[in-house]
Amino acid sequence: MNSIFVTDLITALWLGFTGACIGSFLNVVAYRVPLGMSVIWKPSHCPQCSHAIRAYDNVPVLGWLWLRGRCRDCGEPISPRYAIVEFIMGLTFFVLAYVELFNGGANLPGGPITEFVGAVGNVWYPQWKLIAWYGCHCLVLCFLTCWVLINMDADRRKIRHGLLVSLWLAVFFAVPFWKQVAAGLGF
Ligand SMILES: [Zn+2]
Repeated sequence: MNSIFVTDLITALWLGFTGACIGSFLNVVAYRVPLGMSVIWKPSHCPQCSHAIRAYDNVPVLGWLWLRGRCRDCGEPISPRYAIVEFIMGLTFFVLAYVELFNGGANLPGGPITEFVGAVGNVWYPQWKLIAWYGCHCLVLCFLTCWVLINMDADRRKIRHGLLVSLWLAVFFAVPFWKQVAAGLGF
């Protein structure tokens, strides 16, 4: 294995882990906001028995897996939805790092943004303009994810739900082709 492959992979995994943590927060937001609860003051707790989730169980995806999808205190099942959302957000940050950051923004309008290839030249020595593009796309997908999750709990909005999921996929798959998409739209 060459060093570029390794540094890119480590960086993408780190970004993916960050994405999974953000996914975990989005779960909390989507669960609490419609109920009018604060998203910051109260620590995560089991919806069945109200026991606080222990810090070592509150690891995205892995926590759910090693608890086998059950609360440590009351044994009631915890919806796999939480772990799935964390996994999807982690994967999103991981994949976008490869298609947008490590190639120096070659797919972005006016790109490439930098002359560097790989994680070291673009992330370890931060190229802020490029990172801002990446951050914006991740942020848009985070907002859409939150919107999808909040709609998922409102049964009457089935059609809108399909539209939102389509919108999420459209944004995700547009990122590697941003240059072509922007040209197609006449920018
Ligand atoms: Zn419980």
